[in-house]
Amino acid sequence: MTETLKIVVPRGFSGRMADDTAFEGLIRDVALYYATDPFDGIDDPQKYGICWNDDRFWMTFDCQCSDETCWFCGFDCGCEKGKCRYFIDGVEVDGETSWQRNYEFLGKLPHELYEHDTPEYEAYSHQWKARVKERDRRWVTLHPAITHTCVWQNILENRVEGADWRPRQQPPNFCLKKTGLKVWWYKFIGRDMEFNRAPTLDDVKAIEELEKMAEFRKRLENEE
Ligand SMILES: [Zn+2]
Ligand SMILES: [Zn+2]
Repeated sequence: MTETLKIVVPRGFSGRMADDTAFEGLIRDVALYYATDPFDGIDDPQKYGICWNDDRFWMTFDCQCSDETCWFCGFDCGCEKGKCRYFIDGVEVDGETSWQRNYEFLGKLPHELYEHDTPEYEAYSHQWKARVKERDRRWVTLHPAITHTCVWQNILENRVEGADWRPRQQPPNFCLKKTGLKVWWYKFIGRDMEFNRAPTLDDVKAIEELEKMAEFRKRLENEE
């Protein structure tokens, strides 16, 4: 018997892809055009993006250091942020109570009680998943509204109070200032991309404008 090993890599792992959307391709082009040698310490600008901020666009790579002092990972714009509100069956409780009752309701994880691939594991696992579903129905977290009045208000998105935590309150990885389009990705351009709204033809035109200007800039540099 021959065994085949299938290696699954996340989307965007090797940079530019054959099935890139036109828009992903344009973002990669911008990163490449505006990258300065040696790419601001980034291996591959088409894969990760670059750090850039002027009055036309903002781009940053998705830092994963998790350091609270990192301007990206520990980002805090300084605006007043309300607190999350927790509800169980429509009754408001504090965060600690919500977590504690959630833990009691779900019980131990299947692998904490039973060996994998045993009938007991399968049966318990089945019940556990049903409880998770029930929990998701009964437990609700409301994320607070945020209205930015800070210097970042053109980069960040306001949020209304609701069960949806988005839009992310971290700077986007790409923001077209002319049109207000914002894009977030996870580690690589193209991976788990989120947009503040669907891109329009105006966004495409604005990006193409950036590319033309970058080409012009490079030409000027070469003539010097
Ligand atoms: Zn960081
Ligand atoms: Zn703010």
